[in-house]
Amino acid sequence: MATITVDPRVSGNTAEFVSGRHLLYIDGQFVQAASGKTFPVYNPATGEVIAQVPEADEEDVHRAVLAARRAFDDGAWVRMAPAARTKLMSRLADLIEEHNDELAEIESLDNGKPFAIARVNDVPKTAAMFRYMAGWATKLTGTTLPLSAGPDFHAYTMREPIGVVAQIIPWNLPLLMAAWKLAPALACGCTVVLKPAEQTPLSALRLAQLIDEAGFPPGVVNILTGFGETAGAALAKHELVDKIAFTGSTEVGKLIVKAAAGNLKKVTLELGGKSPAIVFPDALMDKAIPGTASAIFANQGQNCSAGSRLYVHVKVFDQVVEGVGKIADKIKLAPGLDPACQMGPLVSDAQQRRVVGYIESGIQEGAKVTAGGPVSGIERGYFVRPTVLTHTNPGMKVVREEIFGPVVCAVPFSDDDIDRIVQRANDTIFGLAASVWTQNLSVAHKVARGIRAGTVWVNCHNVFDPALPFGGYKQSGWGREMGEEVLHHYTEVKAVTIAL
Ligand code: NDP
Repeated sequence: MATITVDPRVSGNTAEFVSGRHLLYIDGQFVQAASGKTFPVYNPATGEVIAQVPEADEEDVHRAVLAARRAFDDGAWVRMAPAARTKLMSRLADLIEEHNDELAEIESLDNGKPFAIARVNDVPKTAAMFRYMAGWATKLTGTTLPLSAGPDFHAYTMREPIGVVAQIIPWNLPLLMAAWKLAPALACGCTVVLKPAEQTPLSALRLAQLIDEAGFPPGVVNILTGFGETAGAALAKHELVDKIAFTGSTEVGKLIVKAAAGNLKKVTLELGGKSPAIVFPDALMDKAIPGTASAIFANQGQNCSAGSRLYVHVKVFDQVVEGVGKIADKIKLAPGLDPACQMGPLVSDAQQRRVVGYIESGIQEGAKVTAGGPVSGIERGYFVRPTVLTHTNPGMKVVREEIFGPVVCAVPFSDDDIDRIVQRANDTIFGLAASVWTQNLSVAHKVARGIRAGTVWVNCHNVFDPALPFGGYKQSGWGREMGEEVLHHYTEVKAVTIAL
């Protein structure tokens, strides 16, 4: 087993947690995997092993699902006063806030992202998500319905939790994605088995400890670390799971749908994207240039909503591309825990190879690199320079496929016909998000109406809020995360009709 090396810059608490013994969280107990197997977790800034975590397999999945099933079927969680659920979830939010910097250090070590960003973005947003959804627990109502069947009937609907939910999350925003999944499920009274990504299991394991400390009843939340092909696949096909919520690649999303067919479990999917950012010549350049740069480079470009296709009117194309390129060139690449870090490494060597492969394929197909490029110049760690490609065409892989790294394809348009620009922006299998940059209200609204995507930002990009529903059209997914909308995916509607 490789030696564990934890960055000396982290606090004592973080070092102790990361290098300590990690266990699965099943039925309110911290336990080893049934097989006793573990797997290593790497620091993407160095490639060193920072922890060993349990490798859950089918047997552990079965134990966790049974625990969640019992916790749901015994009714205590479902019947718990909604205000008591609110209080528990708010207590968890308090605990997350109390451990803000520790969680941010864990996230930075494990995922590679800048600590300075994790502590003001990922962790506070995680707490905010639990707090927002905690409020919904007391507000899940049905309606009374006037029946045309006649006056001798009284009818109403009620919203009930869907049951046992399996949740599989990715590595790009590990803690926040756990909150996006857990918070609405718990607010609705569901019980959960959550599997974080193999690359980034640590913040979910720390969250399990905080969930335990908050006092959630045993079995309501179960957290399993393991691999997608084994633990994830076992969850997706398990007959006692009522619903599966997945975030990740479109390819795995399709596998989840097939696996879920066995017992026709309900499925929600938050998948890939190839989001356009469209800059019109009247846009405020001091907002549009840094805004579109951040749209693609934030979180090392590892965002499903990243603005990876930058459409710019010819009148301002050179100015925007030069501006975005200058920002890219100035971004300081360093390990996430380095105070100077503005962009950390990508999450893994596989992701680095994948993103570099895309840049190389773009160059081979005729694209020009105006900033960044395939060589990072950094010896250790999975770094990729923020990269701007021009001279692309709509057939190229870099334009069509999700890269999931800091790589943007800048494309000029000369057309003043909004419908044609919208048509180009919509020329993708994805439909997650888009942004439009203009001072013209009517242009903004026309583009917002025409774009086939779940989110359209005007003069901003990557603005998320627990109140805003988020999800995809087309192959970007099924259903929505967050907002009131997500509650429909964790509840069933029952119609009750009474003959008076
Ligand atoms: P995956 O889709 O493989 O991983 C996402 C989650 O699914 C992980 O928890 C993974 O587990 C799990 N998983 C993998 N295979 C299965 C399976 N057969 N059944 C059930 N669960 C499974 O993404 P990758 O990590 O491979 O990343 C590849 C690409 O996916 C990225 O480059 C990006 O384009 C896209 N992606 C999109 C994300 C988004 O937010 N929409 C997030 C992450 C990736 P494990 O990691 O343990 O194998």
